[in-house]
Amino acid sequence: MLTICFVELGLVEDIDLVEVCRIINRSQRAIRAIVGPEVTALGEPDISAIGYSLPRLFAVLAATAEPEQVMVGITRAPIERNLFGSHVSPGLIILSLHQVQEVCVSSGRTTEEYLAQSAITELLQLLYVSSSPDALWTDLAHDEVRGCLFDYVPNKIDKAVKLRCGHLDQQCRARLIESGVAADLLVAADKLLRRIQSPTLGRTLRQALQQPVFSLLLGGVLGGLIINLVSSAITDSFTSRSASATAVAALMALGVITFPWLRARRSARKLRRWPASATTEPSAISRLGGMN
Ligand SMILES: [Zn+2]
Repeated sequence: MLTICFVELGLVEDIDLVEVCRIINRSQRAIRAIVGPEVTALGEPDISAIGYSLPRLFAVLAATAEPEQVMVGITRAPIERNLFGSHVSPGLIILSLHQVQEVCVSSGRTTEEYLAQSAITELLQLLYVSSSPDALWTDLAHDEVRGCLFDYVPNKIDKAVKLRCGHLDQQCRARLIESGVAADLLVAADKLLRRIQSPTLGRTLRQALQQPVFSLLLGGVLGGLIINLVSSAITDSFTSRSASATAVAALMALGVITFPWLRARRSARKLRRWPASATTEPSAISRLGGMN
């Protein structure tokens, strides 16, 4: 089993690295994620690592390295050319949280889910470049839009699409396997993506409640249910007829609450089937191009 160790570099507030590890560890069995030491002081001035170069961050991360672990340093600082992340063979990864909040809001995913997916993406690139002295991470990145984790994206906000429905396309999967990346790691990546992309009841309900029509509908059904219960209690007339009305209202409320979730699950299943057979891009995949 491959172990990746998350390390905070500088001031990284409001990020739950234990939750990042939980997301990774519960979704698959080939990669074990753990939380390492915090490196709160990066020298003078210690201002969230801003002003520190990528080589400096890698040097600090290397000092925390444990044998046979891939170290993943998390920083709020923008890193070279405002990259999402960077890596150095054999086992160092830096992930930047700069401008990530917008990506998470746009995708409806948490920062912890963003970090879990980004860590695995960088890990696959790291394993690829470690396979041969001639291998470059740019070998994996491609301009062609395939809905793949390795599509170039010109703006950070475009990564929201990858969080919602990114996958490993057949070409990149084959290239990784040819380079010697273990098949179980690719399966682990697939499982993690599925975990992050699967709609949850809470997430879809929160998004649906932002739509006035849905809010009115749910409010009306729940209001009717409450009024029915209260009036029955006040008048002490809880007859079989009022019980039936209450049951119908409760079922309607359940249907309204779960409808967005069931619809989102159906859409997610369609998107998962798309990569193997599609000849055209789904509308959910925007034109990306540019930076990986
Ligand atoms: Zn690809």
